[in-house]
Amino acid sequence: MIDEKYKNPEILTFDSGVEGSTLTVLGAVHGDEPCGPRAIKRVLAAIESGKIRLLKGKFVTIPVVNLLAEEKNVRFVERNLNRFLYPKENPKDYEDFLDLKICPVLEETDYLLDLHSYHSKGSAFVFLGVRDEANISYARALGVPRIIYGWADAMKANDDVADKREAMGTTEYSREFGAISVTLECGHHHNPEAADVGFNAILNAMKYTGIAEVDEDLFVTSIPESESYDIKMGGMFLKTRAGKFLEDWTNMNPVSTGDVIARYDDGEEVSMPEDGFLVLPHKEAPIMSNWFFWGVPEKL
Ligand SMILES: [Zn+2]
Repeated sequence: MIDEKYKNPEILTFDSGVEGSTLTVLGAVHGDEPCGPRAIKRVLAAIESGKIRLLKGKFVTIPVVNLLAEEKNVRFVERNLNRFLYPKENPKDYEDFLDLKICPVLEETDYLLDLHSYHSKGSAFVFLGVRDEANISYARALGVPRIIYGWADAMKANDDVADKREAMGTTEYSREFGAISVTLECGHHHNPEAADVGFNAILNAMKYTGIAEVDEDLFVTSIPESESYDIKMGGMFLKTRAGKFLEDWTNMNPVSTGDVIARYDDGEEVSMPEDGFLVLPHKEAPIMSNWFFWGVPEKL
């Protein structure tokens, strides 16, 4: 039996009292990704000290969405919160109860920034769900030079994904209600600069939406520069049974058509269908979860 307190993540609202947009920032939708909560904590301190001053609209944040997973330092407890995300009539899994709390917040927001990190080596990138001017312009404003787009289509195109609602996460759900929303992958889970990337992105989002003015000396300037490019997602490989990667792949590893990425224990090889980059290769992926994605460089 899961304690009720874990079903009520803290939702903080800063209301300027002036009409304007609502910017919502989420941390720890996945419990083992500490950069979001860390970045948000620093933003809250800067609001407190007057270094961030609200001008119009609202700033809403849920610093730790998946409370119990965060406490256990696991991705999720019973269901990946960033899949099948919609309010359930009969909540069963722990995360179903979180849906009931976060969906109303997502329905009310104009801009969403969902902070994540990942499990392979590599630098930060923005996951862009919709390729329209508003979303591209918002994504570019966050100060992260890499943008990956076309994820939902890549998921839907995979025959092994039976229920298409699987692709419904925080950004997809909020977009159903008109929000402009992106996921920011701040880098590896344990990169010390992941929280810095998230922090700068929140400041940039505040400036972009006009909800706040921020002291420029708040920005972290020590983040290593990475090459700027846009990647169009080509598809996803689901790990359907036991198997292994052939190399210690990193995120954005360049690969060519026919390169063998992984081998199932029964001998079947999984190879690249086209030239491009590996996206979020997950060495320890559990069976029936995303093993790796791939993408091709294509300017937005
Ligand atoms: Zn995540």
